[in-house]
Amino acid sequence: AVSDSPTYSIACIPADGIGTEVIEAGVKVLKTLSEASNSFQLEFEDYDWSSATFLETGKYIPDGGLENLKKHNAILFGAVGDPKVPDHISLWGLRLAICQPFQQYANVRPTKVFRGTKSPLRNCNTGDLDWVIIRENSEGEYAGQGGRSHRGFPWETCTEVSIFTRHCVERLIRFAFETAQKRPKKHLTVVTKSNAMRNGMVMWDEVALELAKEFPDVKMDKMLVDAMTCRMVLQPNSIDTIVATNLHADILSDLAAALAGSIGIAPTSNLDPTRQHPSMFEPIHGSAFDIAGKGVANPVGTFWSAAEMMRWLGEEAAADRLLECMENVCGAGMLTRDLGGSAGTEEVTNAVCDEIRKSY
Ligand code: ATP
Ligand code: MG
Repeated sequence: AVSDSPTYSIACIPADGIGTEVIEAGVKVLKTLSEASNSFQLEFEDYDWSSATFLETGKYIPDGGLENLKKHNAILFGAVGDPKVPDHISLWGLRLAICQPFQQYANVRPTKVFRGTKSPLRNCNTGDLDWVIIRENSEGEYAGQGGRSHRGFPWETCTEVSIFTRHCVERLIRFAFETAQKRPKKHLTVVTKSNAMRNGMVMWDEVALELAKEFPDVKMDKMLVDAMTCRMVLQPNSIDTIVATNLHADILSDLAAALAGSIGIAPTSNLDPTRQHPSMFEPIHGSAFDIAGKGVANPVGTFWSAAEMMRWLGEEAAADRLLECMENVCGAGMLTRDLGGSAGTEEVTNAVCDEIRKSY
């Protein structure tokens, strides 16, 4: 009963643009899930870290902020990005400033075609596209290494150095094998560009082949990233789990989200698989200032992220229940504009809450 059910402490960072709208919706759905299931309690603490506070104080995260964040079981994040702040400042100032020290090295992005939604691909229906993309989230092309010299001169020269360490590549590909192993198809595609990039990418291939021996029940294949984009469009059915570098998986996962119908439904988990730090869960989309404040943002990507958060905290049944309720609401035609419907954020949120209450 209630007294001996676990309590999870969740940090909420709505941040910018539609981030504030979708997190409000996500918290409402999670509270409903907790009440209806009667099997766990949730405590929420809000953090108002955003581009607005950055513009006021010069800091995204106040002194001691990360220490505070550590005491939570998980973090629910909205979106960061503001027209008044360059994107590389806001991204490094808030999102990566949490991912990196918290060693959230595995970025997990499930994608599928929901009942009631449509893929832009011909002949791609519910069930034909059901993927998980695992993105390296700690180094690679986004390691922040490099520099600029002779600024502004015609001979200005920049380096953008990718870092690939065996330790980080191995822990990530191992996590990908473990993820593939838990899925019905048990199939992993290792994506690289090891024909043109002859150091780090070749090591990826070698590490993958070594690890494949430890997971004989997982079918593995290798693919160059350019060929992979074609395969995603032409043979979505042939794909199950994908593992790729920070840059490659960033691009592939936007493609995946579009092929599944909308960027508005896709979730992301930034996981520290060692569980030494809280993991962070967020919709894949950005702050989308073009639709901010209008009440039309699709909250489904945040609901799915919330479901994956509950799964990570050990509440598998509640996570599956939430996914089912979201899909029922989409299946009934209650869709936001990005999915071709006319419902607003609040309508979809209330419909999912009703569905949750009905289901228990
Ligand atoms: P970022 O710079 O972080 O990528 P962004 O502001 O460019 O953020 P994206 O998330 O990349 O926004 O989204 C691109 C466009 O897709 C938005 O401008 C918006 O019109 C639409 N979009 C994104 N998320 C949603 C959503 N949740 N619901 C409805 N439409 C969305
Ligand atoms: Mg964008």
